[in-house]
Amino acid sequence: MSEKTIFKRIIDKEIPANIVHEDELCLAFHDVNPQAPVHVLVIPKKEIASANQLTGDDAELLGHLFGVIRTLAQKLGLENGYRVVTNCGNDGGQTVYHLHFHLLGGRPLAWPPG
Ligand code: AMP
Repeated sequence: MSEKTIFKRIIDKEIPANIVHEDELCLAFHDVNPQAPVHVLVIPKKEIASANQLTGDDAELLGHLFGVIRTLAQKLGLENGYRVVTNCGNDGGQTVYHLHFHLLGGRPLAWPPG
């Protein structure tokens, strides 16, 4: 059996995280290495390696995750806007192979990304 990812270990409460939201489908917590004044990760509890593994069966889950993102953006004071990012695979810069959405805000964000 393959090793649990660090995010699965957070879901299973084996390691701590600064959790800002939890429900039956997902978890959201502050990134340990924030790239903006607000940098939260929103992850499904379902083990999906990356956006590249999403299927039509995950449509409802994705809708739920984006609803949580919208609620958190409001709760965290991002009324000026924010960015949602999912890094996918090596060239995408993904380091943890459990699907996650970065919610970034609290400052103007440059475009294009590096
Ligand atoms: P990515 O590079 O898109 O796969 O993003 C992984 C993110 O997880 C990075 O921004 C890391 O800073 C963050 N990260 C890694 N370990 C932890 C942890 N234990 N708690 C919170 N964030 C983490």
